[in-house]
Amino acid sequence: DDLAARLAARIRDVPDYPKPGVVFKDIAPLLDDAEAFAGLVDHLAERARALGATKVVGLEARGFILAAPAAYAAGAGFVPVRKEGKLPGALHRQSYDLEYGSAVVEVQQDAFTPGERVLVVDDVLATGGTVEASLDLVRRAGAELAGVVVLMELGFLGGRERLAPHLGGAPLEAI
Ligand code: IMP
Repeated sequence: DDLAARLAARIRDVPDYPKPGVVFKDIAPLLDDAEAFAGLVDHLAERARALGATKVVGLEARGFILAAPAAYAAGAGFVPVRKEGKLPGALHRQSYDLEYGSAVVEVQQDAFTPGERVLVVDDVLATGGTVEASLDLVRRAGAELAGVVVLMELGFLGGRERLAPHLGGAPLEAI
């Protein structure tokens, strides 16, 4: 639709970044365009409200840029899911496989009240490993998944299929 087309026009393909053969989706031209950025944040906030989310979870680091203003606009709280070693206190941790090796994401154990509905936001869904690990954290922290919204889905990497068993019926939306 109109918003999707306006946003897509502001996403830049960068060939061979961060390594040869990869086409990186660069959202910088979208973020630095006041109208496009506002349109994106307003859409995310509308989804948070419609899905009854009282927290919006952002995935480090570009997810933070989108989730925090969306949470504010929706009258919801913001919760960061961070890479390992960045958060203090009692944490839930989840490791996930990368192409080479593995990574760990963490969330604070007291980030959610029991049964609270949360919307998970990130910029790009690629293989789905990052979102899958984050959904596990949200569940273990006692929250209920209201939905996942990503700006962009790289469909050929199969992330949607990978996430399907982890959504518990909640929607996965790509703008
Ligand atoms: P996944 O875990 O393979 O789905 O990778 C998703 C994560 O990697 C997200 O947090 C994205 O920010 C990042 N990512 C993967 N590919 C791209 C890209 O082309 N542009 C920007 N970020 C990307």
